[in-house]
Amino acid sequence: MKLYNTLSRQIESLEPLASPKVSVYTCGPTVYDYPHIGNWFTFIRYDLLIRTLTESGYEPNWVMNITDVGHLTSDADEGEDKLAKAAAKEHKTAWDLAGYYSDYFLGALSRLNFTSPWQTPRATDHIAEQIELIKQLEERGYTYKIKDGIYYDTAKFADYGNFARLDLDEQQSGLRIEANPEKHNSSDFALWKFAPEGVKRDMEWDSPWGKGFPGWHIECSAMCYRYLGETIDIHSGGIDHIPVHHTNEIAQSEAVTNKPLAKIWMHTNHILYNDQKISKSLGNGITLEDIAANNLDLRAFRLYVSESHYRSQSKFSWDGLNIAQNRLLKFINFAALRYQLRDDAAVTNLASDKILSCMQDDLNTPQALAEFESLIEQCEQTKVSTGSFSSTLSLVDSLFGLDLEKGTPDINDQAKSLINSREQARKAKDWVLSDRLRTELAGLNIGINDTAEQGQIWYYLTIPRNS
Ligand SMILES: [Zn+2]
Repeated sequence: MKLYNTLSRQIESLEPLASPKVSVYTCGPTVYDYPHIGNWFTFIRYDLLIRTLTESGYEPNWVMNITDVGHLTSDADEGEDKLAKAAAKEHKTAWDLAGYYSDYFLGALSRLNFTSPWQTPRATDHIAEQIELIKQLEERGYTYKIKDGIYYDTAKFADYGNFARLDLDEQQSGLRIEANPEKHNSSDFALWKFAPEGVKRDMEWDSPWGKGFPGWHIECSAMCYRYLGETIDIHSGGIDHIPVHHTNEIAQSEAVTNKPLAKIWMHTNHILYNDQKISKSLGNGITLEDIAANNLDLRAFRLYVSESHYRSQSKFSWDGLNIAQNRLLKFINFAALRYQLRDDAAVTNLASDKILSCMQDDLNTPQALAEFESLIEQCEQTKVSTGSFSSTLSLVDSLFGLDLEKGTPDINDQAKSLINSREQARKAKDWVLSDRLRTELAGLNIGINDTAEQGQIWYYLTIPRNS
């Protein structure tokens, strides 16, 4: 299995620390709103990674955190708490808001066919671990206290910014929100923020430094360590995380352990919609609900995500998603052929090998799908009995989560008997009856192709529901 490593800026072979186990941490959602499709592109791509690891014989242990406190409106730790701000707007407590959107997120993982097992720890359930980590940083001299909190002194960490190859001066001048003038270095970030005086926050905890709440970056360092240990195999997130969040996670964790936080760092590229980055603030945050409202299948969305490579900048368009939906229907009807044709194992096994190899080559999802498509075309062209190809279908389902097998139940007895009657009508050259039966079958979402070699071949007219 080969993966591009942001740390070395090279494609590397995965060499897990304790193979066949592979520890994977993905920076998860901040639960103050419905995730938009840009977020889902990232999460689905790591689901594709986990599925590929499993199919390659590894045993991935996947942790994706839920940020329910401490993420400020600027990733660089300035501005308001995203959750507190959204809660005030919705007239809810921060706890209610976080509970609602966490539950929504977990439900959506299931609706989107995310593979399990996955663990999704919440930051608010791990405050003690975060305080402990800050204490260790304090003991080692990496922290200082100013009016609004305990900060990490980035000048004390010799390699700060190396990961992102940051030009720190350039980065800082680009910050939108005015830096806190008390900070020693503009790249310093909050480990613990004090609750503002006279303000009762919904979410605040006692700590050795006073009442307050943890910063966003410390939660990932703490939960990554708690669930996966000092050095993990793969740490992952969106490309946005490189200059601040992941740079800060490395500074926190490695200052305490003196070991690399992760062997491989993976980052997914941006998704553009109408040539703009998708973000809530731009008001183009399309959600899963918008997709469903347009009568599109969430599996078609999964397929759409897989059609572009995770490291390339991809575009979202409704046309593109509709095309993916048609492609999914084509896949589904290929799967439905297994009830109707005989098997030719030699063709399909070769296809399976090719598909898995593509995925093991830095998750080359577009090429893997092209290989699957060429198997479909081969079957269509040769018209030979390449029927039950079950192993390839199972593999594609395991890798892409499209439910091609589960989503294509055999047709019911009523449909079968209509097809038999139509067979008889055609033999008797009763074209009127034959056409009427075709219309009846269409009412059951079933179309018919009359072929010279195999007689009537049925297919789904639209993606079958309740699948
Ligand atoms: Zn993180």
